[in-house]
Amino acid sequence: MPASLSGYRIHLVGIKGTGMAALAEILADREARITGSDGPMCFNWRNHLVLGAHMSIAGGVHKALQRGTSISCEVVQIFTRNQLRWAAPPLREEEIRIFRRRRREFKYILAHASYLINLASPDDRVYGKSVSAFEEELDRCHALDIPALVLHPGYHLGRGVDKGIERLAGGVRSAYERSGGKEVLLALETMAGQGSSLGGSFEQLKTILSAVEADGIPVGICFDTCHVFAAGYELRTRSGYDRTWRKFDRIIGRKHLIALHLNDSKEGLASGKDRHEHIGKGRIGLRGFRLLAQDPRLLRIPGILETPKGRDMREDVENLRILRSLTSRTSEPGW
Ligand SMILES: [Zn+2]
Ligand SMILES: [Zn+2]
Repeated sequence: MPASLSGYRIHLVGIKGTGMAALAEILADREARITGSDGPMCFNWRNHLVLGAHMSIAGGVHKALQRGTSISCEVVQIFTRNQLRWAAPPLREEEIRIFRRRRREFKYILAHASYLINLASPDDRVYGKSVSAFEEELDRCHALDIPALVLHPGYHLGRGVDKGIERLAGGVRSAYERSGGKEVLLALETMAGQGSSLGGSFEQLKTILSAVEADGIPVGICFDTCHVFAAGYELRTRSGYDRTWRKFDRIIGRKHLIALHLNDSKEGLASGKDRHEHIGKGRIGLRGFRLLAQDPRLLRIPGILETPKGRDMREDVENLRILRSLTSRTSEPGW
């Protein structure tokens, strides 16, 4: 790593491991290659989360980046294909070329895997299709130079948690073995604990993470505020918030934290229901998001909105404005 790099990149030197550290390292390495040894410092992060939103890829994956730029996202998350269909046309050369050029405008880019994928499915047909689709998504991340892919751990559909986790770990292993995207970091998402879903507790996520890691796959956690709250982890009060993160640190470990999904929740604590709400308008409320936005332990972690929006994205603009205002030190706790 060149010595001329400024503070943040020097901060990255020597960091080894998984999760956020691995992602940071991958990105720093790529930035160094892209910009040259003393190129421009892209990381202009001071004391807040790196904020952005999930962006539509209507018209091509590169369009998502244009949309992200237009509303000042520092990080963007995309689906790399239509998430509601199994089959997808290959990415066009032109699309890849433009995407790879424009991606440098962002501090992070993340991909989210299709909701159809269930690597824990006991049904062989669904499982087979899920492994193939996940493999293809890893390939697409590789082609687009996207360092991390967020995955819902899936549903065991009555076969039990242990069997489900075994199936999931096997599916992840098969997909990585066959894919050209072996360097892509897998971000397991925290779930709301609905039905037979896996990943509704930190303990389950740790078991999955350990199984995947044992196969040599780079893996970490994407912490969804709505899901975690719905799963029963308090985020609204100082003591509850700190207790939640202490549990996360003890059971999973902070070094595994890759990203946050910043969604308020329409449903209450421990509801087990996954329903996103705009920031401050839901059951977590501004109190919870202020604690998050001002948490020095979350500095430079990418935070992505997945809240409802129309084509003009004004809801994202408003949610980002609120989150940025909460990071300010003049934003005092309102209780
Ligand atoms: Zn999410
Ligand atoms: Zn959700």
